[in-house]
Amino acid sequence: MTTNRRIVVLGGGESGAGAAVLAKVKGMDVWLSDMGTIAPKYKELLNKYEVAWEEGKHTEEKVLAADEIIKSPGIPETVPILKKAATKSIPVISEIEFAGRYTDAKMVCITGSNGKTTTTMLTYHILTKAGLNVGLAGNVGNSLALQVATEHHDVYVIELSSFQLDNMYQFKANVAVLLNITPDHLDRYDFKMENYAASKFRIMQNQDENDAFIYWQGDPIIDAQLKHVHTEAKLLPFDAINDATLAAHVDDSDLVTFNIDGHKWNIPRAELSIKGLHNVYNSMAAGLSASCLDIKDDVIRRALADFEAVEHRLEFVRTVGGVTYINDSKATNVNACYYALESMTTPVVLILGGKDKGNDYNELLEFVGTKVRAIVCLGADNTKLLNFFDGKVPVLTETHSMKECLAKCKELAQEGDTVLLSPCCASFDLFRNMEDRGEQFKDGVNAIEE
Ligand code: ADP
Repeated sequence: MTTNRRIVVLGGGESGAGAAVLAKVKGMDVWLSDMGTIAPKYKELLNKYEVAWEEGKHTEEKVLAADEIIKSPGIPETVPILKKAATKSIPVISEIEFAGRYTDAKMVCITGSNGKTTTTMLTYHILTKAGLNVGLAGNVGNSLALQVATEHHDVYVIELSSFQLDNMYQFKANVAVLLNITPDHLDRYDFKMENYAASKFRIMQNQDENDAFIYWQGDPIIDAQLKHVHTEAKLLPFDAINDATLAAHVDDSDLVTFNIDGHKWNIPRAELSIKGLHNVYNSMAAGLSASCLDIKDDVIRRALADFEAVEHRLEFVRTVGGVTYINDSKATNVNACYYALESMTTPVVLILGGKDKGNDYNELLEFVGTKVRAIVCLGADNTKLLNFFDGKVPVLTETHSMKECLAKCKELAQEGDTVLLSPCCASFDLFRNMEDRGEQFKDGVNAIEE
């Protein structure tokens, strides 16, 4: 790699700022441009490394003078400046692709529509417990690029969104995990599921016979797509069914059983620290990933049993007046809520709503009217939910603030019930983000008087 390449970084958030620092440390001519405002902490970082930057605009001639553009995942490729870059054939890559060029560390990469953060954190937890020198990167933790620039790790566990994967070409995952593919972000993929699925499958590109591809065999979309893929990688399928041919399965006595190349070990399902069927999948994926790095069974078993759930993902908040409150604010699509309901063992008062991304709520009907005794809508505009669930659930009501919503839930929930915030929707209509929604829920629940 020549050192005087002109690198332009578009976007000054976690990944963009990290990429710019790495380019600088590697002696390149780097400049960063952000259409919005750059957060003070990233300005400080850029200034510290003497990276020139602009905000509030993209100065066209400077961007188009790049030898290579590193694009933040939040910027769609349809923005005018990128269309112009395409006409000039300037390569556009992601921060992960860029950082991957400058490290020999082993890469454990995790993608899927749901469960990425949980599985990434769980895998990181196992590897850390095993004493490895591990970096946590991607959508969680610091950017990979910044860590490659300023730290040394032997292994990275990286959460990859489809937006990151879209601009990855040469990067190779030593261990790739594909958890599931359900509709999400289709607006970025011409509303075509096959485009979104193809993006997710980029996680296994460039893998060879020394690498592993771990995936949920029960996913019909993964199953269909896999038939068209040629790979040298070792395939490690998992599913929560009693099928001993899988790399991980659940047997008749509820033992989660791992089997890689004839090496077998197990952990009782009840001992997994995170609950629900979806977390059995996540635990299998993380356990298999760790096994691929030769971590001892005992270490994996202990780590799967003492991992603490990630905030805003089926997070227990409090039991008050006999009612349990659970914060699953991160459930921003229907499938995530489906698994939250699947894991519930009591009647549920369900909080749904927010900014709908073209949701189809039919998937939830399996639980509505049986497990779900009431739905409390929480959104600026609840019309779609009210129309869809009308007549399908004993109680259906709407609210427009967390305070009003919690008061309603308290009124509706009976002793022994669970109030579940698992809204299926983005949060931006009433809240700053999903964390803000989760925090407001928790603050409100913690303020309920005994
Ligand atoms: P991501 O990072 O992919 O958004 P998270 O781990 O943050 O995934 O979880 C997002 C939501 O999806 C949460 O509501 C969680 O309860 C649910 N979830 C977690 N794992 C799975 C899975 N394997 N399948 C379906 N839903 C899941």
